[in-house]
Amino acid sequence: MVKVKKEFDSLDQNYVFSLVASRSKPGLINLGVGDVLSPLRPCVANAIKKAVDQMSSIEGIRGYGPELGYDFLREKLARKDLGILPEQVLINDGIASDITLILDLFESDIIVAVQDPTYPPYFETLKMRGLFKKAVKLPCTKETNFVPIPPKEKVDVIFLCSPQNPTGVALNRKELRAWVDYAKECEAVILFDAAYQAFITREDVPSSIYEIEGAKDVVIEFCSFSKTAGFTNLRCGYTTCPIPSILPHFQRLKTVRTNGVAYPIQRGAEASINHPEIKAQIALFKESAKLLREGMLHLGFDIVGGIDCPYIWWKIPNKMTSLEFFDYLIEKHSIKAIPGSGFGPLGEGYVRLSSLTSKETINKALEKLSYA
Ligand code: PLP
Repeated sequence: MVKVKKEFDSLDQNYVFSLVASRSKPGLINLGVGDVLSPLRPCVANAIKKAVDQMSSIEGIRGYGPELGYDFLREKLARKDLGILPEQVLINDGIASDITLILDLFESDIIVAVQDPTYPPYFETLKMRGLFKKAVKLPCTKETNFVPIPPKEKVDVIFLCSPQNPTGVALNRKELRAWVDYAKECEAVILFDAAYQAFITREDVPSSIYEIEGAKDVVIEFCSFSKTAGFTNLRCGYTTCPIPSILPHFQRLKTVRTNGVAYPIQRGAEASINHPEIKAQIALFKESAKLLREGMLHLGFDIVGGIDCPYIWWKIPNKMTSLEFFDYLIEKHSIKAIPGSGFGPLGEGYVRLSSLTSKETINKALEKLSYA
């Protein structure tokens, strides 16, 4: 039988996340969820229905769509104010696909820098490619104010996520400037994951890294409709690649690896852009985040996040491991969190709480937590 690459033996079996998914009990308050579980907004649903109706007529027949996305959507997403052109915007079925696919472009001996803790698929994709062991880990801990600091050594590729999953901390202009300067100095490329950009609140946190001068030379930015407009099931995102030495190759790679995203989904995504219904939904989640953050601070807990991101990163207030504390929260307070160890070794000692839920649910959770 053909042999599977040995790197696949080194993957853990997503133990923490399957454990989290398997735990339930009556009345459990789920603050573990990183999903947007609310009905589709009418603007999105109607645009999708209209597109399906069009395709149901002889005049509206559509076969394969353009692999890189329809022009109507690429035009809308181009940031001409920041010098980003429609042809530099590539539509995808969500960040998770492109941010891992893009590594196919680079030599197999590259050195990658990656945050710890972080969104788990980065670690997994590096392990699959045999790049994990020699990867430079960027601690995002109390000692660094949960901000990744450019390392002393030279790297080739940097995974940066801001606002960050799981810590909920976002990089400000000065911190982003330092990363762009570092990347320029060592001729590295930054893969910038902006999945939570819609939640940015602070003035000195740009909603796109391209607001930093020179970023277009070294940054590929990954954005998504998942958290912004509730597309976690529908699947639509976009990659912006303004780097001339990379763009044509990535376009070529994508035309081989995908036949694009469904027309109705792209119409739904188009309809969501700057729509007041979507803005109102984000505003509600932001209110939930504020409530959770302020409530936890009021109760005296040691937390970060919740300002520019729907996640709160909670320092475990005793000597328990994050798995033990996860169990304790379920048994004692009927609250489900996510153990920090699921996000990398430096996530140990923390749990992640999500505020992608109603204020009512957050209030119930705070009430339970107040009976310490
Ligand atoms: N990036 C981060 C940091 C995430 O937390 C998530 C989902 O939770 C994703 C990317 C996945 O995004 P998408 O649904 O667009 O694939």
